[in-house]
Amino acid sequence: MGFTTKAIHAPFLRKDAHGSLNFPVYDSVTFEFETAEDIEDAFMGRKPRHVYSRITNPTVEHLEQKIKNVSGALAVVAVSSGMAAIANTIMALAQKGDNIITTKYIFGNTYSLFKNTLEPWGLETRYADFSRPETVGKLIDGNTRAIYFETITNPQMEVADARALSLIARKYNVLLLCDTTVTPVYLFAGRDFGVDVEVLSSTKYISGGATSVGGIIIDNGTYDWGRIPKLAADAKKQGPFAFVTKLKREVYRNFGACLSPHNAYLQSVGLETLAMRADKSCANALAVARFLKSRDYVARVNYPGLEDSPFYRVAKSQFGEKCGALLTFELASKEKCFAFLNKLHLVRRATNINDNKTLALHPASTIFCEYPPDLRLDMGVPDTLIRLSVGIEDADDIISDMKQAAEG
Ligand SMILES: *Cc1c(COP(=O)(O)O)cnc(C)c1O
Repeated sequence: MGFTTKAIHAPFLRKDAHGSLNFPVYDSVTFEFETAEDIEDAFMGRKPRHVYSRITNPTVEHLEQKIKNVSGALAVVAVSSGMAAIANTIMALAQKGDNIITTKYIFGNTYSLFKNTLEPWGLETRYADFSRPETVGKLIDGNTRAIYFETITNPQMEVADARALSLIARKYNVLLLCDTTVTPVYLFAGRDFGVDVEVLSSTKYISGGATSVGGIIIDNGTYDWGRIPKLAADAKKQGPFAFVTKLKREVYRNFGACLSPHNAYLQSVGLETLAMRADKSCANALAVARFLKSRDYVARVNYPGLEDSPFYRVAKSQFGEKCGALLTFELASKEKCFAFLNKLHLVRRATNINDNKTLALHPASTIFCEYPPDLRLDMGVPDTLIRLSVGIEDADDIISDMKQAAEG
């Protein structure tokens, strides 16, 4: 079965009492038991049942099932946001004295999570240049718990060679952890490229057009959890399920990063149209990138689907014809960027990506405003950069709005 068929026809784990065709929203905090023995069995994990919605909830579980169904993953955990997916994953597998290897070319809040939130708790972050995977190995030591990268970096638009990174991860027995937000399931099959665990913001593509905030953790079932000291005891008991068990029975439960049942419902419905929306927005992004490329006032266009992008070859091999709906471009100055943004009518000035609407933003003065100018440059975010998240409108309308804003 194809992606959309699997998304729409994902089976229910239990038959619905009323034969509801859409999985209902179980907006209930708690669940009742017939006997004291039954509730003991549930708490001991002898008979899995929902007991309390911070820990598990039927509607959230259905979303997890659906993602599992389309991705073929071993296990999926749905959480309250993309940041919660990243934070909970790292907290479940690393501890004081450990390190992770990443790059400065990552989403601004993720950089802040590693640097400002987790480093003071004793997790070291080591920065590599993932465009040169051969440099990664020398940063790895016995306390390295993961290589962390994004499929297409936001907003630098670099594409790491996932296969090359996975060979290094395998060689050193380190987990390959990937933020697949901009190319989620359907656009990128992480497991085929050696990605062990995927984290993503379902706020973006999956929510169905910016309806709700959510995050997903996908365990592809390819990593031996016994290699991680924090999970070694769980691996003896739970085998391949050690990581999700650690999340569900400890980290995610204790941090309270639960997804609301209502948001799980919206995202579940959103997943059903993901492929159709992604097809349209990726085709639109390529058309817009080609248009920008043809204008002499555009100093530079960063989109891996353009034939002359330095990442074209690797993007083709990883994403095929659909290289996501995010692109960035440079104008002559910050003033030119602001003037352009202020003249847009159809394209909206807003943060968020993979919305149904096309959104434009000046990253340096917004998402990256907390960093000093020299660090921003180091992070690949100059003052001349505009980020565009291309939506599912008709391509000609997006292009004519951009044209009037820049040329009108
Ligand atoms: C938006 C985003 C996140 C964070 O997701 P939230 O749902 O907003 O918490 C993480 N990584 C990337 C690449 C993103 O674009």
